Amino acid sequence: MKNISVIGAGTMGNGIAHVFAQTGFDVTLIDVQTAQLEKAIVTITKNLDRQVAKGTLTEDQKTEALSKIKTNTSISDGVAHADLVVEAATENEKLKLDIFKQMDAAAPVGCILASNTSSISITKIASVTKRPESVIGMHFMNPVPVMKLVEIINGYATSKEVNSTITELSKRLGKIPCTVNDYPGFIANRILMPMINEAIISLFEGVAGVEEIDTVMKLGMAHPMGPLQLADFIGLDVCHSILKVLHDGFGNPKYAPCPLLTNMVTAGKLGVKSGEGFYKYTPGSKELVVSEVFGK
Ligand code: NAD
Repeated sequence: MKNISVIGAGTMGNGIAHVFAQTGFDVTLIDVQTAQLEKAIVTITKNLDRQVAKGTLTEDQKTEALSKIKTNTSISDGVAHADLVVEAATENEKLKLDIFKQMDAAAPVGCILASNTSSISITKIASVTKRPESVIGMHFMNPVPVMKLVEIINGYATSKEVNSTITELSKRLGKIPCTVNDYPGFIANRILMPMINEAIISLFEGVAGVEEIDTVMKLGMAHPMGPLQLADFIGLDVCHSILKVLHDGFGNPKYAPCPLLTNMVTAGKLGVKSGEGFYKYTPGSKELVVSEVFGK
């Protein structure tokens, strides 16, 4: 494997391009928006600079990694020579199905098509292609250069060979792969999202305030971040849509998003990305500073 195409140059796409380029692969980063591609290169450069400052990468290795990344605004052009495509576009089922149809038509025979989706069925994505055995979930965690896990999701038709290729590849990237089957939320979000939802329900029912809930989970369970602040970082809209996938997929009321979460998303309070969720974040500061807490 030599040529990797990454579709979507947002939060995850830039991190995925970063780790592949740093490992020596030729990367084509694809996005419909030129501005996103430019922003991604700036972010990757900044993150590589941070590694140089820490002493985990040399200046030459940084230059070498950056030289490995090309950008493109066309999917058909950008995947034409790919050995693997990792799709990391916006979490929207219709959009992903459309992208996979285009990838399937333009990528060479034998190219593996992977998705970084957090919750959309790999089996469903594979069903719109003519190569379902070569479609797989490659779920990186945020921030990609730092987080060790890759949750690998086998769709109904994913072949054993494709799974072992992606498992070995993840190890080459310095990650720890973990294979799971394709059911709503896979493992990561099937367990994480009900915990976040329960934290929001506890707040909604007045059992405790934001800081108390997060402090109990941080100090009591040794979580590095409380569930409400984590929800702010993930994006409340993202949490809401994953809970809906779990609710629809299992038909079990226990996954229904808390009405407070629904209201906050409707009001545009999406967490860090909108500047306000369960906490208010000071815009423009280098480190995010919590300036206000919900309900206080
Ligand atoms: P994002 O919004 O930061 O980036 C999405 C990018 O996709 C944007 O740059 C957008 O321009 C681009 N895009 C949209 N339509 C496109 C198209 N047709 N062709 C090419 N590019 C297109 O989103 P993100 O947070 O990076 O999430 C990307 C994927 O990764 C989603 O499936 C998400 O569920 C998953 N994911 C996200 C996280 C996270 O913490 N953010 C963690 C794990 C997995």
